[in-house]
Amino acid sequence: GAPRPPAEPLGPRDVFIAVKTTKKFHRARLDLLLETWISRHKEMTFIFTDGEDEVLARHTDNVINTNCSAAHSRQALSCKMAVEYDRFIESGRKWFCHVDDDNYVNVRALLRLLASYPHTQDVYLGKPSLDRPIQATERVGEGEVRPVHFWFATGGAGFCISRGLALKMSPWASGGHFLSTAERIRLPDDCTVGYIVEALLGVPLTRSGLFHSHLENLQQVSAAELHEQVTLSYGMFENKRNAIHMKGAFSVEADPSRFRSIHCHLYPDTPWCPHPAAF
Ligand code: UDP
Ligand code: MN
Repeated sequence: GAPRPPAEPLGPRDVFIAVKTTKKFHRARLDLLLETWISRHKEMTFIFTDGEDEVLARHTDNVINTNCSAAHSRQALSCKMAVEYDRFIESGRKWFCHVDDDNYVNVRALLRLLASYPHTQDVYLGKPSLDRPIQATERVGEGEVRPVHFWFATGGAGFCISRGLALKMSPWASGGHFLSTAERIRLPDDCTVGYIVEALLGVPLTRSGLFHSHLENLQQVSAAELHEQVTLSYGMFENKRNAIHMKGAFSVEADPSRFRSIHCHLYPDTPWCPHPAAF
């Protein structure tokens, strides 16, 4: 639909973007983000990881070692989300956004989108990962269970939560509560967020087609639409390499994720982007 007028202009200190990573991906994934979108938005971006890294610390002050386990377990991932949530609340900022380390964030588009919603209201924005609500079993007491269903925004596409809503989540999300809430439904961190927001607070997910994970066919995002997209990704989908299809500044061999080409498209004044002859 037509873009709504901004409810309030947003500055770089209004938004908290949490990037989830793990030590083994610092060189393999995070460096690419630091060279591209993060380099333009250091004030907004906070990196949540599980191991010390001097190289990373030289790039940005906003590195949080969660001391969570580096395993890909449900508990380890929920542990990181819990720390992200607590640091956001502490920050006093208006918007919390979570992304993975294989996401490109188009921050200008993100700010435009968020500015069209009031941060004091209940807003949960993202892309549902399934075409129907997830069915789960909620453990409510001693050996007592009941079915519950709710929508959730897939973490791999990124999602955002207003401060107004985040504050209401506190009884189930702050301190150690996020982990015990996750255990109640035994689902991953992004599902647990949906459970708290939709099932416990009754706030519906606002769907946006501007968030993208590598669990969708990224070739369907055209280069002409890139300026409006909020998040992009790369990786595997149905056993095939999946990335944005664009004829950009760099070849697919030199830039398999396409993130460098996308960055040059969105920020053509970047020093390392090829420039048309200036004479
Ligand atoms: N991740 C993590 N710990 C791990 C493995 C992955 O924190 O042990 C993070 C990773 O850095 C990424 C997210 O979890 O931000 C999703 O990981 P990945 O993209 O490898 O998996 P998938 O997209 O297939 O879920
Ligand atoms: Mn991924």
